[in-house]
Amino acid sequence: MKLLQTTYNKTFVQTVANWNLKDKNALFHVFVPFDLNDNKGETDKVREALKFLYPDIPVVGCSATGEIYDGTMCDHDIVVSAMVFDNPDTRVEVCPYYVEKDFVKKEELLDMALNTPNLKGIELITAAPYQKLEAAVEIMDRLPDDVEIFGAVAVGDQFQKSFVFANDCDYSMDGSVCVMYIGSELHIHTDRMLGWKAIGYPLKVTKSEGAVVYELDGKPAYDVYNHYLHIHKDNNFFYDALQFPWEVQVDDDTTYIRHAKSVNPDGSIVMSTNIPQGSDIRITFGDPRRIMNHTRQTSDDIKSFSPDAIFVINCMGRKLFWDYNEDVEVSEISKNIETTGFSALGELLRYNGTTFLNNLSIVCVAMREGAPAKKYNQDSTAYGYHNSNLPVTHRLAIFINTITDELMEKNKQLNDMLYKANHDALTGLLNRGAIERVIYDATDNTSPSYRNDWHLIMLDIDDFKALNDRYGHSEGDKALRLLSDYLKKEVGSMKNASVGRWGGEEFMIYLAGYTNAEVISFAEKLVSSVSDLSIESGKLTVSIGVTNHHDFESVLGTIDRADGLLYDAKNGGKNKVCTDIEK
Ligand code: GH3
Ligand code: MG
Ligand code: MG
Repeated sequence: MKLLQTTYNKTFVQTVANWNLKDKNALFHVFVPFDLNDNKGETDKVREALKFLYPDIPVVGCSATGEIYDGTMCDHDIVVSAMVFDNPDTRVEVCPYYVEKDFVKKEELLDMALNTPNLKGIELITAAPYQKLEAAVEIMDRLPDDVEIFGAVAVGDQFQKSFVFANDCDYSMDGSVCVMYIGSELHIHTDRMLGWKAIGYPLKVTKSEGAVVYELDGKPAYDVYNHYLHIHKDNNFFYDALQFPWEVQVDDDTTYIRHAKSVNPDGSIVMSTNIPQGSDIRITFGDPRRIMNHTRQTSDDIKSFSPDAIFVINCMGRKLFWDYNEDVEVSEISKNIETTGFSALGELLRYNGTTFLNNLSIVCVAMREGAPAKKYNQDSTAYGYHNSNLPVTHRLAIFINTITDELMEKNKQLNDMLYKANHDALTGLLNRGAIERVIYDATDNTSPSYRNDWHLIMLDIDDFKALNDRYGHSEGDKALRLLSDYLKKEVGSMKNASVGRWGGEEFMIYLAGYTNAEVISFAEKLVSSVSDLSIESGKLTVSIGVTNHHDFESVLGTIDRADGLLYDAKNGGKNKVCTDIEK
């Protein structure tokens, strides 16, 4: 295959006519600068000319920025490229599907794709909103793993909406165009360039909605930029934050990058695209030399596939990141090979079986017909990164990451120790000291958990000594664990409630904000449910003392009363609740 390209200029018709594509299998891409005056009017002229010259060759296109022409990005011209296939068996199938009829068409599309032998790749160019795109992509992911899926989000802003088009169809401002690449001798290889370096602790997205992230680790999202990076809520926020995008962890092997677009007065941050709540993220930093190195390596990997041409989808954010040097990566990729493509608002790529919308990446789609032609000579001198001359920013990132890893390990050890200090080893419940602290905290009027409306339920297993004597200590342990698991489950599902192991076979439950009736019913339920727990020794029963905290009373006073009531329950025949409060 080969790639031909031109800009839309005075000699456009002549140039394209000279390409001599009659009876060829080919595909035209038309990339239109989104901010061009009368962009659709100009595009109409291009489309008419192409149709006049080559009525049988399909055309797809979209609004773009940084249209790649001759290995560089141009911002002011419509660029037309032709992928021309040599093998008669290679062809493309263009399916415009627009959002109104979305669902029907998507299923149809999947059906069609599943029934197309030698389908090698699917390109999706879209102007659709994120949700629609996500739904479409989920369906696409049902295709066999060896079908490459790639694409781009067309470019627009509040003044000029993004659009896509295909063949004779009208422009669509919320739809997509899909191209199927088919052929027994067609080979497609995709990869992506990221190059951002994660730094610092992982953070949890504790509150987000769509692309708006409200909280990280329970704090306003903006705090991260303010606290760690001293990036302020001013006009420079976008550009300052662009150097520190987020890496979102999908699984052990897969991440994608999102960048902050703006910050709201409430401290929430508008990200480039959706970030699911519950995601783990890390701040990354963009060191130009490191990014460039990654680009060179990936570019070399792609070229070792020996492609005839490469379709490059570059992120607009990345273009802004490079600023005056915006061509640097595209020209690297375009060394010794024809490229086409543009800068987009998002780059789609199926990676490890799942299609993601990336930001700040470059997606490269390498295409070839037939066997690899020539061995690509890698320029191994390109990356001296592993030995010397590391940029100081990179060394600092290593320093920060090493310290962070060590601190995280120490933190984990501390958490393990804290856990052990507060929990009973046999049952995993809070130990005596910890449940006592819960109760004492409640009566400390300087503590945030201060309250005076609390109850205690004190519980003791009946005739446990006999169980131990008869069935052995390990059977006794089993019964303790079984009862503890049950209590954990019951109390764990209640608000403002804690349970701990008070002593050998004694347990204490603290409940705040419940009525007498609720607490007594709960205690009665425990007595009857415990006798249903099945243990080898037969039936387990418990006796319970229930009381509430009185105003001006010491904690010890309440505990003593619960203990006394438990004693009354034992004396009263066991397997029952004794209380001094009224329902
Ligand atoms: P009561 O109905 O009056 O409560 O009688 P009891 O036998 O349950 O009470 P007692 O206080 O006489 O005996 C408690 C027993 O609990 C004695 C002790 O061996 C046993 N025990 C305490 N901790 C553990 C433990 O961790 N594992 C096992 N298996 N037994 C324990
Ligand atoms: Mg007992
Ligand atoms: Mg006891």
